[in-house]
Amino acid sequence: MQVVGYDSRPDEPSLLIAAGGDVRREALTPGTDLAYTLRERHCAGTVDGETHAPCDRERAPYCELHTVPWAVANNRDSDEEHAIYLAAFAPAVFKVGVTRSERLDTRLREQGADRAAHIAVARNGRIARERETAIGVEHGITERVRVPTKIRGLAGEVDTEAWNGLCDEFEIREEFAFEYGLDLTERPVAETLLTGTVRGVKGRIVVLDHAGTTYAVDLRNLVGYDLAAGATDRELQASLAGFR
Ligand SMILES: [Zn+2]
Repeated sequence: MQVVGYDSRPDEPSLLIAAGGDVRREALTPGTDLAYTLRERHCAGTVDGETHAPCDRERAPYCELHTVPWAVANNRDSDEEHAIYLAAFAPAVFKVGVTRSERLDTRLREQGADRAAHIAVARNGRIARERETAIGVEHGITERVRVPTKIRGLAGEVDTEAWNGLCDEFEIREEFAFEYGLDLTERPVAETLLTGTVRGVKGRIVVLDHAGTTYAVDLRNLVGYDLAAGATDRELQASLAGFR
């Protein structure tokens, strides 16, 4: 049994788990109890529909043969209209990004954005990415927010003053505000585990309650792990003391 992928689309967040060449979805809906122990990690191989071709190479989540080059993944749908957007992650991390216009709402929630603003359209993906880069340079905002940064802000709120200040520099076409129902009072502990009760999913972060502690797990960090049934007995950090 191996974690071979994840689906962070907001309507069906799930892990893809392969066993004996078949792939099934482990839903990550709130309240789901997960009880797996992580074993060895290696390449997740390839998934084609409900079929899995395993790979023993060591590099995870994917070996050099099974990594899709960035340029291929991003240029497939380049001829369609693209939206350029700003996204906010609590408390005050702001990025500029592009996506196909019809995917805008989905794309924002896939990333776990707290707030967002649609600021422009471009005729195709190439023009959109050029404008994205130019906006990033001109306004001093990043094109990429790393998951550990998002985890650090999980229990926080967006700095509205800073966000509005940035938005004032643009002509806003549409504004977005997202709720993920995590109901966190303090920052979860960043961990890689698959044991606990699902509190919710925000982008590619799943929040789990286990043994009195709340953990934030980057789904990508699970990909490639062989799983054993049964809750983990690994020693885990149980309090936030080390983070303060
Ligand atoms: Zn491989």
